[in-house]
Amino acid sequence: MSARYVALSGGVGGAKLCLGLSHVLGDRLSIVVNTGDDFEHLGLFVSPDVDTTLYTLSGLVNPETGWGRRDETWTFMRALEGLGGPQWFNLGDGDLALHVERTRRLKAGETLTAITGDVARALGVKPRVLPMSDAPIATIVETDEGVLGFQHYFVRRRCEPVVKRLRFDGAERGTITPEIRAALNDPELRGIIVCPSNPWLSIDPLLAVPGLREALAAAPVPKIAVTPIIDGKAVKGPTAKIMGELGITPDAVAVADHYAGLIDGFVLDEQDASLSARIGTTVALAQTLMRTLDDKIALAQRCIGFCEKLAGRA
Ligand code: GDP
Repeated sequence: MSARYVALSGGVGGAKLCLGLSHVLGDRLSIVVNTGDDFEHLGLFVSPDVDTTLYTLSGLVNPETGWGRRDETWTFMRALEGLGGPQWFNLGDGDLALHVERTRRLKAGETLTAITGDVARALGVKPRVLPMSDAPIATIVETDEGVLGFQHYFVRRRCEPVVKRLRFDGAERGTITPEIRAALNDPELRGIIVCPSNPWLSIDPLLAVPGLREALAAAPVPKIAVTPIIDGKAVKGPTAKIMGELGITPDAVAVADHYAGLIDGFVLDEQDASLSARIGTTVALAQTLMRTLDDKIALAQRCIGFCEKLAGRA
């Protein structure tokens, strides 16, 4: 069987489903990952969602946080503190190696896509991990405390400022990468799955990349999204808070509405079954809370089955 799938994903929430999909599909999965959170810190190019994806799929991830590496040591941060250097963004010693290597290769003129592909291979990751763009596109958060770069909002200010508007600086200069175009044009493609990532912070930046939304629309396969909101709440992170601040009711209906025109199926949590009739597209009910690896694999299988059903194959 050579049926292939493309997943669109952000960081921790998206990576959970990607791990399940990777168990089912292996190298038949391509993951388009948000790079709107990327930034330069201490002269290093950090790509948090790409790294979370790589660490999760390789088993290196810190299971307590869902990001960073397990069994990490912090000699670098302690030494930096001793020099009076910035402490607001934690870089573990092992993690640092990835940022140094990525920065070295970017400076030598290689693309983020090529570097990420090599790192994925080195870590034994089977799916293709494809950054949404090789050109820098920065998620900027306009808040009641002023205009903040994404990591300054997310990490330094712990998502406390009230979000007024989000924008994706540099998007107009970006373009869909040849690798993403090839994944979406693959004749074996059977479905596109929007992971339960934050629609506004993780998926919107990706949809802002010129050509990507059109290429998704042109792919002749079912497109589905999995809710990141269960019972009106985010499992983790600021999704529901941001929805409220943007004047949107924080529920799964609003997430499905947000993806209107992009998707032809929505995976709603069983707990929210009463909302089914208000979802403006075909609904599949599932247990979407992923605590264990089995939960992730079960949800992945449910998503693949839903795509097959929508395509009239099941
Ligand atoms: P981030 O960039 O690290 O914030 O990660 P994402 O944007 O990929 O994921 C954040 C979203 O994942 C939040 O809206 C969470 O509600 C959602 N999320 C996290 N874990 C789960 C889960 O187990 N099930 C579902 N349905 N959503 C989840």
